[in-house]
Amino acid sequence: MKRKGSNQRRHQAVGTAEAAAVDPLTDLGLNSKVLVLNKVYMALRVVSAKRAFTLLSRDAAEIIHVEQGHFTNYDFSSWLEISELQRQFEPEAHDWVRTVRMHIAVPRVIRLLGYDRVPAQGVKLNRRNLFARDRNRCQYCGRFFTTNELSIDHVEPRAQGGPDTWENLVCACLRCNARKGGRTPEQANMKLVRRPVRPKRNPMISLRMGRDKYESWKAFLDEAYWSVELK
Ligand SMILES: [Zn+2]
Repeated sequence: MKRKGSNQRRHQAVGTAEAAAVDPLTDLGLNSKVLVLNKVYMALRVVSAKRAFTLLSRDAAEIIHVEQGHFTNYDFSSWLEISELQRQFEPEAHDWVRTVRMHIAVPRVIRLLGYDRVPAQGVKLNRRNLFARDRNRCQYCGRFFTTNELSIDHVEPRAQGGPDTWENLVCACLRCNARKGGRTPEQANMKLVRRPVRPKRNPMISLRMGRDKYESWKAFLDEAYWSVELK
């Protein structure tokens, strides 16, 4: 029994079972990402929609809905009710997951109710964050590549004492990396597209913030220099 459109319909009693009934295979909304705040509204990390729904259904978190610069807190059952209205009036503004009985809007931001630890300082130096900082762009030829066509290059080669730091590591395509070999850019007569720097905030999150659908994250990240950790 599917009912669509603007049919008035009474709210059924919905409980936490709704979250458990989400079918991960049919719901693209589950690919959406959700920003997690601690109790005092500091950005902690980004999780999958599925993980967010798990936290919500355990009442470990609430939804922070940002609209026109204001935000409103909803517990999960209120959010399920709001979702029905959103489905009617602004379906394109949200990503959706479907349960047997209803559609649920994927929240963009949730807040952990019992967690007030401060996020760890610093952005982790790892392959994922490095590629994200450089946007999968070879820092020598300037072209964009898929992840498996890229490697990590020590600007100042390891053999010449170059350290493993944000300032000395860049994305390079396999071809440029081979051409450069164990030399400095000057020795190889190659130029960096830009000087590598340590990012102020998790680059994976910066990438997403460029997209409209994650606009609401800005409210919590702009004021926060603390970097957020992906899990
Ligand atoms: Zn290249």
